[in-house]
Amino acid sequence: MSNFGSLNVLVPRSLCSVPDETNLTVNNEGLTPIQISWENGLVSDIRYDIHHAKPSKILFPRFVEAHAHFDKSFTWVDYPNFKSTYENALLINLEEHITRTSNKVLKRAEDSINRAIKNGYRAIRTHVDTYISQDIAIWSELFNLKKKYSKFVKIQFVALAPLEYWSTNHGEELARMIQRNDGIIGGVIVPPFNKKKLSNLIKTTLLLADKYKLEVDFHIDESSQNPGLGINLLIRILKKLKIRVPITCSHLSSISLLKNYKLRNLCKELAAKNIKVIALPLTNFWLLNRDEFNTPLKRPVAPIKQLQNYFIDVSIGSDNVQDSWYPFGNFDPFYLMTIVLPMLQLNPWDRLAISALCNAPARLLNLDWDGIIKEGCPADFVVIDGICWADVFNNDKNRYVFIKGSLYE
Ligand SMILES: [Zn+2]
Repeated sequence: MSNFGSLNVLVPRSLCSVPDETNLTVNNEGLTPIQISWENGLVSDIRYDIHHAKPSKILFPRFVEAHAHFDKSFTWVDYPNFKSTYENALLINLEEHITRTSNKVLKRAEDSINRAIKNGYRAIRTHVDTYISQDIAIWSELFNLKKKYSKFVKIQFVALAPLEYWSTNHGEELARMIQRNDGIIGGVIVPPFNKKKLSNLIKTTLLLADKYKLEVDFHIDESSQNPGLGINLLIRILKKLKIRVPITCSHLSSISLLKNYKLRNLCKELAAKNIKVIALPLTNFWLLNRDEFNTPLKRPVAPIKQLQNYFIDVSIGSDNVQDSWYPFGNFDPFYLMTIVLPMLQLNPWDRLAISALCNAPARLLNLDWDGIIKEGCPADFVVIDGICWADVFNNDKNRYVFIKGSLYE
């Protein structure tokens, strides 16, 4: 383990910034051969290396997961959802709450963190189910866990509660605690719903966030019904309240079913309010619009390209790992890329596609480093043996994770 190092690698061109571009080449797949050196945990030099024009390794910045659920990871074995529908996933999720203890949640979180570091993540935003009967003391333990692993990974917690929770004393107490620990509050806005009742709950949640200067991350419009009903309600409320709370919309799946002009109008509103979006294709494709007897063509997922056209910062996240919402996954950024890029017809050689996986999540979590490899950035890489994108998506290649210049083993 040395803190000084140098490698000849290929890097996606859009992920690196080289001081002298004179001799830099880019191959047909958007990969650039460079020699990268680092010292004392930081990249000290990047240059085109004429003697190693064909490197056999590909380098990525360590990844950032925009949306996870540590508290229920790996519960599939005990709480499977063989119907594979959203409704049944929720029922089983609530069943799991009955046997949930702080220790079980902490163990799942720690397992998740360890796998995520090993697979190449440097930061993760994770939601944690929050409800009145859950002991609020679990939060001190979760924040301890965050501290314990802070050398390797930055954890950002979202307290994901039924919106009613945020108008209770418990909600206020937790909001204070979340504020002290750099966390986020969250809730679910999914049709069918009673508009009037929900409006009041959303208002209360936003006002609480404003009071404690918190960000809100909503699970919103994760549905194949009533396109955009939740987000349009949220926007109407924001206009009335005239407050500027940072907002992330996770899912926004059903807006892909809106007519073009309605989607365009919605994109303008999202951009004007600087609302960030997280697309979660794995759970959406698994759960939404299920039909036991037919393979549906209608597969709602946040319309990434249309949103990006309006300069909305869209991240692509994984969502659930081996629980009632999604039976697969392993906190592995390469698993995510391998499935999501072909599924969504995103070209890995296009800057915006790679940015949704590598840079937008870093901005979402407000990290110091946006994930562009350049001189002075952390020597935090994931390197795989390979020469082309097919190798990246062929998950049997050796993978090396470097944290501040040292190989993580
Ligand atoms: Zn989620």
